[in-house]
Amino acid sequence: MEAPFFVKVVLNQEQIRAGVERLAGQVRAWYEERPITVVGVMTGSLVLLADLIRLLDMPLKVGLVQAASYEGTNRRPLSINPDMMPDVVGHDVLLVDDIFDTGHTLVEVVALIRSLGPKSLRSAVLLRKEGRQQVEHHPDFVAFDIDNQFVVGYGLDYCDAYRNLPYVAALEPDELHEPAE
Ligand code: 5GP
Ligand code: MG
Repeated sequence: MEAPFFVKVVLNQEQIRAGVERLAGQVRAWYEERPITVVGVMTGSLVLLADLIRLLDMPLKVGLVQAASYEGTNRRPLSINPDMMPDVVGHDVLLVDDIFDTGHTLVEVVALIRSLGPKSLRSAVLLRKEGRQQVEHHPDFVAFDIDNQFVVGYGLDYCDAYRNLPYVAALEPDELHEPAE
């Protein structure tokens, strides 16, 4: 798929594939043959989740948790909906998210899952934005560090669009505006 004229490609399909393979290699090395429960943070982790689990060969279950913190490019208070959470009591849980930005989402979802009593909990993200973190906790597995810019594609959205781009692109500042009321 060609990049629309207004975006700058940050990671192309080939780079993403290599990064996700690297991530999967780290996850396989950590858990070896142990069964795991992979919990994806919806909706942004959808594409990574689908690609990552197909590169893992231990027995695994998949669950979802919904967390939302953006409207367009504006942050709003984080809301977490655990209704689709699988049973994690006594399980080795791998939390998967699209991007680690300020870190608040991951920290809150980690706290939620910890409160449910997993045997262990680690986290994996596709992207980490340089210099943005406001929390001590960092993900255990990170595929790419990127500059501080608003990115879309490979699951990441702007106003629910662009999740289906097979690459990761930065929206140029003049493309970022509030959705019409
Ligand atoms: P945090 O709580 O770490 O600041 O933000 C994490 C969540 O905000 C991510 O799961 C993602 O949904 C959203 N987010 C943060 N940065 C970006 C970005 O550059 N692009 C998009 N589309 N979402 C982002
Ligand atoms: Mg998210």
